[in-house]
Amino acid sequence: MEYVSTRGIAPKVQFDAALLAGLAPDGGLYLPVSWPTISADFADMPFAEAAAVILEPFVTPWLDRKALLGMTTKAFSSFSHKDVAPLRQIDDEDWLLELFHGPTLAFKDVAMQLLGVFFDHALSQTGKRATVIGATSGDTGGAAIEAFKGRDQADVFILHPKGRVSDVQRLMMTTVEDRNVHNIAIEGTFDDCQRIVKTLFADRAFADRVGLTGVNSINWARLAIQTVYYFTSLAALKKQTGASAASFSVPTGNFGDIFAGYAAKRMGAGVAKLCVAVNRNDILHRTLTTGRYEPQGVSPTTSPSMDIQVASNFERLLFEASGRDAGAVRALMESFDKKGAYEMPAGWLAKIHEDFISERVSEEEDAATIAEVDKRLGMLIDPHTAVGYAAAKKARSSGALSGPIITLATAHPAKFPDAVIAAAGKKPELPARFATLFDLPERYETAPATIDAVREIILRDARAGK
Ligand SMILES: *Cc1c(COP(=O)(O)O)cnc(C)c1O
Repeated sequence: MEYVSTRGIAPKVQFDAALLAGLAPDGGLYLPVSWPTISADFADMPFAEAAAVILEPFVTPWLDRKALLGMTTKAFSSFSHKDVAPLRQIDDEDWLLELFHGPTLAFKDVAMQLLGVFFDHALSQTGKRATVIGATSGDTGGAAIEAFKGRDQADVFILHPKGRVSDVQRLMMTTVEDRNVHNIAIEGTFDDCQRIVKTLFADRAFADRVGLTGVNSINWARLAIQTVYYFTSLAALKKQTGASAASFSVPTGNFGDIFAGYAAKRMGAGVAKLCVAVNRNDILHRTLTTGRYEPQGVSPTTSPSMDIQVASNFERLLFEASGRDAGAVRALMESFDKKGAYEMPAGWLAKIHEDFISERVSEEEDAATIAEVDKRLGMLIDPHTAVGYAAAKKARSSGALSGPIITLATAHPAKFPDAVIAAAGKKPELPARFATLFDLPERYETAPATIDAVREIILRDARAGK
């Protein structure tokens, strides 16, 4: 499979090049030249095998099925649940897809564990060392660090907004001892972190010197991997109920996870509608309602991994909605860079509404949902999952969605204990393997929200280019 940039200027590349590059050199995001069709039956297939079947067309000719299966088996063996991503019924027509059984208790492990294995293989082929850089609103960082720690071929630098991630999120990043792991606490917001990362990528001389590469959800490989659980959960639902389609409610920040659902739909999965579930940082809900994309300030919530106003992956949907008109996408993104907002052509919005709806969930609704699920099922859900489930319920009662709805359970409740205690009056317990987390020494460096400060740290500590 070849990959094109949403901005149409960068040349087409193969999977391994898109993997190592992250962002395309013209500032766009990579997408496959066409969507493969997947028609296998995943009902009784182990997750790692399903992943190999679904990903094969994306990675050909870089990897064959056998090599790929070796890698998926290795990557998903780090999950504590044998099904990797089990589906759990929580009401007549409501289901949770549990994506938090990986090493850092959030859905980002699913893609990141395999991404680490892919990188290892790709870098050993090039013989070069890479510098992995990522901005995190909390969960990407830990997942990336777990996936890359101790690897000789890569140094990893993770920027998180100081004081704006949960204690468990921070500790999962800062207590890792491997010397190739570098945590930078930025005095600013997640959007500042993301802007710094994007600008460093645009600095070609610097990027080439240190072999800069990204693992944020702008990296196509992550989204490709995330398509897998849309297929496997639909197969599990079909096996249990006979239903051949479902809608998905997806707690959304950077629009990566839900775009994977869109990709799965294009590949033939029985995805009915995709519900963009957001907290009060509602840029995507406003955009889907009005067609105008306009960031406002970020306001911290109990679901910090969704406290975002610039949703990078939305550009991929623009490309699709425009009928893959890269020139039009480029013009829109240029006007966004100049004016800080853009207006979508009406036809694009109509196209988007064929697949997507959106719901905004307030902090009060979020807490009430955590309490309601605990009361009814004796089960604690995390505040991000609660945004998804609250949105699903709102959409069902307004008639915007009907039939089975699968809500993506994106994090373990123990990752966000304060919000869960406030809502349900109970403390969610961390799995036993994290018993010592709060006693371990932390290692991170604080930096102002400037490009220069971060560039200096990387030049000082990265092994590549020395
Ligand atoms: C990252 C994250 C999200 C948002 O996912 P996107 O792909 O950025 O839309 C939702 N919930 C949790 C727990 C996350 O870590």
